[in-house]
Amino acid sequence: MYNRSLSYWQKDYYFPSLDVAIVGGGFTGLIAGIELLSRKPKVKVGLFEQQTHGTLASSRNAGFMCFGSPTELNADIIQFGEAEVLRVLALKATGYHTLLKHLAGNKRIYKKCPAYELFKAPSSDYGPMVESLPKLNALLSKGTGIESYYESHALSPSSHLQSIRFKKEGQLHPTAAVAALQRKFMNLGGIYHAGTTIAHWEAISGGYLLNTQNDEQVNCNKMIVANNAFATTLVSDYFVQPQRAQVLVTAPLKKLPYRGNFHMDGGYVYFRNIGNRLLLGGLRNTDFETEATDEIGLNANIQRKLDSLLIELLPNQSVEITHRWSGIMGFRKGTLPQLEVHSSGIVIAAGMNGMGTLLGPALGRKAALHVLNA
Ligand SMILES: Cc1cc2nc3c(=O)[nH]c(=O)nc-3n(C[C@H](O)[C@H](O)[C@H](O)COP(=O)(O)OP(=O)(O)OC[C@H]3O[C@@H](n4cnc5c(N)ncnc54)[C@H](O)[C@@H]3O)c2cc1C
Repeated sequence: MYNRSLSYWQKDYYFPSLDVAIVGGGFTGLIAGIELLSRKPKVKVGLFEQQTHGTLASSRNAGFMCFGSPTELNADIIQFGEAEVLRVLALKATGYHTLLKHLAGNKRIYKKCPAYELFKAPSSDYGPMVESLPKLNALLSKGTGIESYYESHALSPSSHLQSIRFKKEGQLHPTAAVAALQRKFMNLGGIYHAGTTIAHWEAISGGYLLNTQNDEQVNCNKMIVANNAFATTLVSDYFVQPQRAQVLVTAPLKKLPYRGNFHMDGGYVYFRNIGNRLLLGGLRNTDFETEATDEIGLNANIQRKLDSLLIELLPNQSVEITHRWSGIMGFRKGTLPQLEVHSSGIVIAAGMNGMGTLLGPALGRKAALHVLNA
C-alpha cells in the first residue's frame, strides 16, 4: 500500500511502523511520549495532534499548577470519598514533579507563587471551611508530603473578601510549556505530527491501523489515547463530556492587588496575575448547557459576567480587556481521572476533569509505564 501524496522519504520518516502511537499532544500525550523515550530510546513513538499550534486545553489554559482549593477538596470528599481524593492528590504530586523535571526548571515557563481561596464576605461557608482545614491538611500531607498546606489568612479589615492561603502553587506559561515538551519529545527521537487528526482506527493482526484525516495510514503495536475531551470519538464505550471554559486577560494595570493564584466559587472562578495583567476565567457553572460543547468559541453571556466580576475585583480603576478566548476540557461522569486499560494494546489517559496540568503528566507517565511493562 502506498500513498501518492508522500515521497518515499516522507513516508519512511513520518509514517514508519510504530511501537507506540499517541493520540493527543497536550500535557498527557507529550509526557507519555517523553517518559517512554527517556526509558527506552529505541522505541518508535509517533504522536498525533490535530491542532497546528499547541492544543485545545493544555496551551489555552490558565496555567495554575494546583492541588485544589479547600472547597473543591471537600466537595470531592463528599462525592467520591477520602480514599479517592487521596489517590488524586498523590497523582497531582507525581504530576508536579514530572512536569517540572521535563521543563528542567525553566524560570520563564514556570514559577512558584502564593495561592488563595477567596470568599465574598460575609460568607456562611468560610467558617466551616476554616474548621475543616486540619482534616484537609492531614490528607494533603499524606498525599503530597506537604505539611500544613492551608491556613486561614486575614485580609485588610476593609476588604470585601475572606481568604484561605495555600503553602504553594505554580504558575505556568502553558503554551511555552507545551512547546518545550514538544521539543524534548522530538529531541528524544519522537515523531511529532502537528495538524493531524486520527479519524479512525481498526485492530489488525499484532496491533492497530490508524487512519488520519488525509487518509495517511500508520500501524502500531500499542496506542495511548490522550485526547482528553475527544476520547469518545476514538473509543465509543469510554464516555468523556467536553466542557468549554472562558477566559479573559486585561492590559497591564497601574494597581494590581492580586499576585499569585486565586480560586473562588468552589473552583468555578479563578484568576491570577501575568506580570501586571490579570487573567480571569470560569463561570461555566452559570451556563453548563451552552458550555457542554467541543467547539471553541466565546460565550457572550459568560464573558459579560466575567466583565462584571472584574469590576468588582478591581474597583476604582479603568480596565482594558485585551484578550478573550476559550478552551475545551474533558469530564468523566461519576469518577475522578484515572488510567484505563481498554484492551491489551490500548490504554486511555483522558478526561482530566479540568485539572490536567498536574493530572495529565501523572497519567501520561503512568500510561508510558503501563505500555513498557505490558
Ligand atoms: C480555559 C482553560 C483553563 C484551564 N485552567 C487550568 C488550570 O489552571 N490548571 C489545570 O490544572 N487545568 C486547567 N485546565 C484544564 C487543563 O488545561 C486540561 O485538563 C489539560 O490541559 C488536559 O491535558 P491533556 O493533554 O489531557 O488534553 P489536551 O490539552 O486537551 O490535549 C488533547 C489534544 O488531543 C487533540 N485531539 C483530539 N482528538 C484528536 C484526534 N482524533 N487526533 C489527533 N488529536 C486529537 C486535541 O486537539 C487536544 O489538543 C484549563 C482548561 C481550559 C480550557
